[in-house]
Order: sequence, then structure tokens, then C-alpha cells
Amino acid sequence: MTVTARAPAVAPSALDSAFGGWLRLLGPERAHRDARALRAASRATFATSGTVLAILEPASREEVQGCVKIANQYGVPLYPVSTGKNWGYGSRAPVRDAALLYLGRMNRIVGFDEDLGYVTIEPGVTQRQLLEFLREHGSRLWMDATGASPECSIIGNTMERGFGHTPMGDHCGTACGLEVVLPTGELLQTGFGRFEGAHTAALGRWGVGPSLDGLFSQSNLGIVTRMSVWLMPAPEAFEAFFFTCATAEGLAPVIEAIRPLRMEGTLRSVMHIGNDYKVVAASGRYPWEEVEGRTPLGREEMTRLRSALGVGAWSGSGGLYGTPAHVKEAKRRLRHALAGKVDRIQFVNDRTLGILRRFPKAIGRLMRIDVAKTLAVLDPVYSLLKGVPTASPLASAYWRKKGGPPAMDLDPDRDGCGLLWCSPVLPNTGAAAAEVTTLASRVLLEHGFEPQMSISVATERMLVCVITISYDRDVAGEDERASACYRRLVQDLLGRGYPPYRLPVSSMDTVSDRSTFADTVAAIKAALDPGNIIAPGRYSSATPRD
Ligand SMILES: Cc1cc2nc3c(=O)[nH]c(=O)nc-3n(C[C@H](O)[C@H](O)[C@H](O)COP(=O)(O)OP(=O)(O)OC[C@H]3O[C@@H](n4cnc5c(N)ncnc54)[C@H](O)[C@@H]3O)c2cc1C
Repeated sequence: MTVTARAPAVAPSALDSAFGGWLRLLGPERAHRDARALRAASRATFATSGTVLAILEPASREEVQGCVKIANQYGVPLYPVSTGKNWGYGSRAPVRDAALLYLGRMNRIVGFDEDLGYVTIEPGVTQRQLLEFLREHGSRLWMDATGASPECSIIGNTMERGFGHTPMGDHCGTACGLEVVLPTGELLQTGFGRFEGAHTAALGRWGVGPSLDGLFSQSNLGIVTRMSVWLMPAPEAFEAFFFTCATAEGLAPVIEAIRPLRMEGTLRSVMHIGNDYKVVAASGRYPWEEVEGRTPLGREEMTRLRSALGVGAWSGSGGLYGTPAHVKEAKRRLRHALAGKVDRIQFVNDRTLGILRRFPKAIGRLMRIDVAKTLAVLDPVYSLLKGVPTASPLASAYWRKKGGPPAMDLDPDRDGCGLLWCSPVLPNTGAAAAEVTTLASRVLLEHGFEPQMSISVATERMLVCVITISYDRDVAGEDERASACYRRLVQDLLGRGYPPYRLPVSSMDTVSDRSTFADTVAAIKAALDPGNIIAPGRYSSATPRD
């Protein structure tokens, strides 16, 4: 099979003509190409090569269709983003040169059903907006939230197959009924939505006939302008649990102990286990003075830092959801499963957290802990487990920035934070978790970075290891070193059978192959987008076989 999508060459005259069309359609407020804004939009948290040629801000699906038609007419590619905060994977920067199609103005919640538990939203709807909407409506439904900022979009995250913390944490798994502007400008409804007036458009994913939802995440085959998201009824009872284990070797037995609980349904949510580097980076700043400016932090220094913080080599957290009886039984089973494998396990609910907040001094004296510090670590995780987004984790992107994060208006792209995620997927086994984390630790330290890692028990059968390459982009040579580290990591992990679940824009080629899979994707791309107008290179850099 030999099918190739035509490679676009953006001639300045074509860009001028296309921009003229967009300007007539959207007006100067929403179609612009001020050099400073273009530079800012092309900047991510690592080195990228795609440039933003113009910024377009449509406010309706019809305007999106209009932008696409103009793009096709003049052969100028578009790179759609929802809120464009894809930090650590490319932010707003396109894979290859393109006009940025920013969908943040399309931010209406257009459908809501309390009984059936869903909302239908546009791409600009943020985590904060959905939370406030549910609160304003006195809803008994919970959303899921990621650890990225409350200002991140729900559709954008789903288009990257992101995940959160609650039982609804698999975002593609809890979304359906996509409305998509195709590269031709036509409008497609997936699932049952293609039947005019179908009552189940927001309720079932498969529809009748081929299921097309999967084509539009991690791809460049269309622009999603609406999507339905399922929500969970607030459980009658909820408790969070937190545990630590002292040694790096303690991870594998913990994973083995947790898997049966996940398989049988005692644990229903995405559970996260972070290593000492990750926890220390989340709760503070790089100890520049103590280590006299040296990087990376070695094992000995980390052991000292983590003891001062009172955490182990690994710290885990998760939620228990259900009736009071369910939660009580789940606690018993969890305690029993982890006995002897963790040093400490603590359960926290609204009541205990309230007491901690009301009587910090007395509790601090009694338990010999710094309650303010404990709450600073506990609060954001506890919120996320209840589907409440939090701004706190974003500060960790400033780990290696000597000045630390600004007091407000954090913007890792603008501030030169270096952040690159490598996220391999692995079987839900202790052996795989140990192999991947040992390998990643070695590669990162060899390249001069702290091996910050978390293991997420993403599903019953699969773990995701999120490995953070964190640095300061303003230090000469660091971008190159981070990129070399990433490539080496992916190569070594692929060699052992651990592919990434998601890719940074600079590395779409790291998993390219000459397989029938790649040929089929290229054939679909050529059929739907012969002009290669939508996000060229995004998850489709494979060269078709001759
Ligand atoms: C501290 C920190 C914590 C984080 N925690 C998490 C986490 O818990 N889980 C997680 O998944 N991520 C996490 N991230 C990564 C990232 O910031 C989030 O995934 C974020 O939601 C992505 O940005 P966005 O929502 O603005 O999506 P966007 O940047 O708008 O979209 C992402 C990509 O999807 C495509 N896309 C977007 N919208 C559309 C559309 N309408 N049609 C077609 N294609 C589209 C584009 O190619 C775009 O580049 C974290 C980042 C940081 C810095």
C-alpha cells in the first residue's frame, strides 16, 4: 500500500492570502499575527521546531469550518488546540509550521443531565468552569480532574488521552458523541449522534456500524468542536488513603498487593505512587544552597531530603468510593493487603481533614508533625481524588528555576521552565514497575537530571509510568541534553517492550515504524485530509511502505 498525504509548503504569498481570508471571517481581534504573540505561542517547555504562523480564534463551529475551508484553499495548515496548555508535551507549539487554531472562545456547556450523569461541552470548557457549573446547579455529580491547572480544557486533555484520579480517570473511556469538523470542512457526528434527534447520542460510544471516536484522539484527522463527558454520582462515602514505603525495592511488592484489589473492584480509581524525587519536587524547590549549585541531586542527598520531609522512597495515594459499608470493607482489605509492605498507611476523610484544619497547633504537638506542611502536600491530592482541580502542582514545573515560581500567573512556557514527560505503559506487575523505574532512574541520572517518577495504576491491567525531565531552559545546553535524555529513554524502553502512551511534539518520530498500522493511518489521513491541512506530523510521521 502506498498512500502519502501531500506535504504542505507554506509559501509567504499563500500565507498572506489565507490570512486575508481569516481576517475577513474573524476580524482583527480574532485573527492576528503580531510577532511577539507568535513567538510566545511557538514556545513550549522544551525545544520545538514548529512555528506558529498566525493565531485564529473562532467562536463557533461554523467559524471553525470557515477557517478550515480557507486553509484548504491556500494550502496553509492549521494546528487546533483547546486551551493550549499541553505542558511537558508541547504546550501550543505545532509539530510543523501552522496557523494556531485556538478554540478557547468556544466554551459553552451545551448539554447537562443530572440523572444520566453527563455534560456536553465545547473545547474551551475548562476544568474550573465545569466544576463551577456543577456547583451552581447543586449537582450531585462529580467530574474527574487532572493535576494540570484548573484552566486546562477537558476536550484538549481527552484528545491526548490524558487521565486523572477518580473512577472516571480514563478520559477517552468516559467520553463519547464527538462532533468533528473534518479537514474538508464537513461536520461529522460519531456514535448515535449521526441520527437526527437520537436520544442516546451522549450515552453510548459504539453507535451502530464502525466506531469512529478513536480516530480523533492522538491524531490529525479532524477538529473536535463538541463532546459528551460522563460524570459519576457523588459517592455516599469517600476516604483517601496515603502510604509510604521506605526503600526503592518496596515498589514491586506494593504493586503486586494492589493489583488483586484493582482487579476485583475494591480499588476503582487511578492510583498514583510517586518516588522521593517526585514528592520532594512537588513540595519545594531545588536545594541550590545546600548542594552548592550542583546538579543533579544524587541518591544520598535525596535520602537526606526525604527523611527531613518524613516521606519514604515511594509515596502512594488513592481514593475509596462507595457506601459507608463498601468503604469500610475496602479499608480493611487495603490494610490487610499492604501489611508489612508499607511503613505507614493513613486514611483521610472530610471530617479528619476538617479537624486538622481547625486545630493545627494541638494536632501538630500531639502527632509531632508540621500541620501546615502536611496540609500543603495533602490538600491538592485530596482534592484531585474528589475530582476537584487544583493549581498547586504547576509550581513543580519551576523545580530547577533559581528564582522559583512567581507568586501568581504561573506560565512555564513564558518563564523558561524545562519540562519534558516520558510516559511508558507497562503491565500491572511489580516486576515491570521495578524494571522501568530502575532503567529510567539510571538514564536520567546519567544525563544530569533528577529521576522524578510516578507510577499510576491506570487500569486493572496496566500501569503508566510518568517520568519527568525537569530543567531550566535558560541554562545553555540543557535543551539539547533533555532531548538526548528523552530519546535515549524511549529507545531503551521500546527495546524492552515499553512504548509511551503519549508523545511530545518534538518526538512524534520516536515511535514511527514501517508497519501495516502506519500505512493504514497514512491511508486514512490521505483519504480524509489530502491537503495535509490539519496538524501535519501529529502522531503520524510514519513513512508509508513502498
Ligand atoms: C504540573 C502538571 C501536571 C499535569 N498533570 C496531568 C495529569 O494529571 N493528567 C494529564 O493527562 N496531563 C497532565 N498534565 C499535562 C497537560 O498539562 C494536560 O494534559 C493538559 O490538560 C493539556 O492541555 P490542554 O488541556 O490545554 O489541551 P490542549 O493543549 O488544548 O490540547 C492538547 C493537544 O490535543 C489536540 N487538540 C486539542 N484540542 C483539540 C480539538 N478540539 N480537536 C482536535 N485536536 C485537539 C492538539 O494537538 C493539542 O496540542 C500536567 C502538566 C503539568 C505541568
